[in-house]
Amino acid sequence: MKQIVLGRVGEITLKGLNRPRFEKALRQNIRRALKDIPALEVKMEKGRFYVEHEGDQQEVIERLRRVFGVVSLSPVYRVPPQLEAIREKALLIMQECVREGKKVFKVQARRAKKDFPHGSLELNHLVGAHILRNIPGLKVDVHNPEVTIHVEVRENAYVYGQIIPGPGGLPTGTAGKAMLLLSGGIDSPVAGYLIIKRGVVVEGVHFYSFPFTGEKSLEKVIDLARILATYQGKFKLHVIHFTEIQKAIFEHCPEEYFTIIMRRMMMRIANRLCTLNGGKALVTGESLGQVASQTMESIMATEEVAEFPVYRPLIGMDKMEIIALAEKIGTYKTSILPYEDCCTVFVPRHPKTRPRLEKVHAAEKDLPVEPLLTEALTDSETLFIMPEGVQKRFPLLSRQEEEGEEGEEE
Ligand code: ATP
Ligand code: MG
Repeated sequence: MKQIVLGRVGEITLKGLNRPRFEKALRQNIRRALKDIPALEVKMEKGRFYVEHEGDQQEVIERLRRVFGVVSLSPVYRVPPQLEAIREKALLIMQECVREGKKVFKVQARRAKKDFPHGSLELNHLVGAHILRNIPGLKVDVHNPEVTIHVEVRENAYVYGQIIPGPGGLPTGTAGKAMLLLSGGIDSPVAGYLIIKRGVVVEGVHFYSFPFTGEKSLEKVIDLARILATYQGKFKLHVIHFTEIQKAIFEHCPEEYFTIIMRRMMMRIANRLCTLNGGKALVTGESLGQVASQTMESIMATEEVAEFPVYRPLIGMDKMEIIALAEKIGTYKTSILPYEDCCTVFVPRHPKTRPRLEKVHAAEKDLPVEPLLTEALTDSETLFIMPEGVQKRFPLLSRQEEEGEEGEEE
């Protein structure tokens, strides 16, 4: 038997000329998130959608809770617009709630179909009375119910007892693309999540210092990218071999400036990748004052070499707030696995916390920036990551396009 989930979408975004584009992207994202669910049908309507399917409804809802643009979800029964059919389903829902120990309810009906013989208030009473007659010991309380049974009478009638919050945000793919500097830490995956949530397609760039950081640390980053893919549908991760650059910085630059110059090299590579892949912004997990490289002066010094706007969605957040979000989105457990990050390898003993730009320029003057950038890009690779895991990997500069990226809509 087919089951139905009703989803609601943000009303503001549905207004105006953007609506068709928004709906098309949302529909595509829903279909992608549920691609292996049997007998799937997705119908968009104004301000809402219906997903019909067979199989595990809990799984369908869990996946929809990661599709941005979805404001809330309800498992619903759809019946012909007839009182008896509505009453029967409402009773079924209430019986289920009673098994969970709930006793106080109300019915909230809405008649959108004008020729249905009972008005909304009348319907509340007709359905409520039917429930009270059939299940002893229940109570109606319109102000503080434990359960609200919703009845909507449209072309069909819909009956449901749950409204589950969705993730909100805007459908992935309705804004542009951005390049996320993705470390294995707590912050950058959260920053990525927040930008994906605004409709942006995020690609990741990770700076990898093999053999100073082992394969385990890369696996951890891939796993974080995979978690982000559960929200975005897929995730492209560029893995940059960064060791030669770090060695060159070590050789040519004063120690106090290692970190800041390393950051500038990261930015420069991110610029190239952003250009190559048609991005419009860079994203980092920086939070003001969290570490020496995140003071206002340090951020100025990294920003100076950025050729795109740099989005720092965590800039004003405390660590505790970031951790809470990391836990909520499911990246925290992976982030705290104890594998070292490239930055922990070449850490100066006394990093400059307030670097002055002229001093940074002087510290960087013997570094062969251009050749280092070219070499790093040539040596690196790109991974296509799906929620299930890595799908394929190839040299970064081979510019392979992802199969089925466009035109998967029937
Ligand atoms: P995170 O928890 O994201 O690692 P952090 O608190 O450790 O952040 P830093 O190590 O100073 O802070 O890094 C600041 C930002 O620089 C990170 O949020 C990330 O965007 C970027 N970054 C740092 N290291 C790397 C790396 N190895 N690869 C890609 N990006 C990195
Ligand atoms: Mg870090």
